[in-house]
Amino acid sequence: MTEKDADIIVVGGGLAGLAAAVSTARAGYSVIHLAPNAPSDRRTSALMMPSVNFLVSSGLIEEPAEHGHPLTAIRIIDATNRLIRAPETLFDAREAGLPAFGWNFANARLLERFQAAAPSNGLITRYESVTAYCREDGIGVVTLSDGSTVGAPLVVGADGKKSLIRAQARIAAREHNFEEAALVCDLELSRSIGSTSIELHYPHGPFTLVPAGGKRANLVWIDEGKVLRDAQASGPEALLSTFQQKSQNLFGALKLASPSVVFPLSVLSVAQAGSGGTVLVGESAHAFPPIGAQGLNLGLRDVADLVASLAAADKTALDWPDQVSADYSDRRAGDLARTGTVVDALFRSLLAEMLPTQMMRAGGLWALKLLPPLRRQAFSLGMGKRSA
Ligand SMILES: Cc1cc2nc3c(=O)[nH]c(=O)nc-3n(C[C@H](O)[C@H](O)[C@H](O)COP(=O)(O)OP(=O)(O)OC[C@H]3O[C@@H](n4cnc5c(N)ncnc54)[C@H](O)[C@@H]3O)c2cc1C
Repeated sequence: MTEKDADIIVVGGGLAGLAAAVSTARAGYSVIHLAPNAPSDRRTSALMMPSVNFLVSSGLIEEPAEHGHPLTAIRIIDATNRLIRAPETLFDAREAGLPAFGWNFANARLLERFQAAAPSNGLITRYESVTAYCREDGIGVVTLSDGSTVGAPLVVGADGKKSLIRAQARIAAREHNFEEAALVCDLELSRSIGSTSIELHYPHGPFTLVPAGGKRANLVWIDEGKVLRDAQASGPEALLSTFQQKSQNLFGALKLASPSVVFPLSVLSVAQAGSGGTVLVGESAHAFPPIGAQGLNLGLRDVADLVASLAAADKTALDWPDQVSADYSDRRAGDLARTGTVVDALFRSLLAEMLPTQMMRAGGLWALKLLPPLRRQAFSLGMGKRSA
């Protein structure tokens, strides 16, 4: 008979994996977290209020103001030379009756906070990667890079887009790689953007500045991968002059405040987010371009639903891991399908050169600018409200 070493094994040390490991351990389960050392994550995450409220209520962070910067407005500027251009649009959180849409956090800072929220008992972290996964007698058996094995009834795959757990659990996934990529870095501006996120939309994607406190902003520039890699290779001065031009000099002289990193972009969806004692959280279950800041927001909703599925299961039953994975899959299905479809359609519409699509996008933004009920619907979708 296969032995268990813990109730749950979580594979993957990114934000979704760490949030899942800490939250399930805080819920009273014994957890082994397999989190190989990874390079420091230089990205930042705009988290909408429902995600921030989840982080606070589940004890993963305390006061958001201690760790991040508020986002109170989003300004969209059509910087294309297209025949049909969209109007400049400003979304203000006050219209949705909120002091802020959300908060912008450095990923490295969130990782630090999540680690600090780990309970002193019930969570063991091992800095090893997983080389194989199978199930024996109702136990998920995971082989580690040192050749040893660990087992638990429930296995959480939080091992990113190329998830080994997903593949070995035979959960089907569809992935499409885009030619576009995202370049991120920190900039020091001459003129502060306050708490407004500013998106300048170009034909190959937006050039977005997200508030990072004072005169600092986090840049997320989406363009063809080759354009970004060439810009990066052109050296700091040439790169800065490209940023200056792309920002249309709206923020005065810019300074680089960190090295730049380029991320390839893809869209990934799974047939089901859980099955047979395995559940997938974060990018092992869903990935899309960083449009509308949805990725980690969705990953945190995965974690909230995993905790809810665990609470709903009958822990005395032998098949509790199957109950959890089936219930989790049901809970996540609607949210994953809805968010994936909206973000994918939005991204493709931003890139489309076809006149009808340009008209629809410009028309859509005019409608959003002018029609309060539509704006309210867009707010609730962007905030990840579940009742859409
Ligand atoms: C440019 C950019 C900007 C973004 N901005 C936002 C934003 O503003 N708001 C937002 O909500 N989202 C945003 N996102 C999305 C967000 O960053 C991701 O959704 C989130 O970081 C994914 O976390 P994860 O833990 O699922 O995956 P990852 O961070 O990829 O973590 C996966 C982990 O699994 C580990 N792993 C892999 N294989 C194994 C194995 N075999 N064994 C053990 N471990 C393994 C890896 O080492 C890694 O640590 C952005 C994404 C990009 C690219």
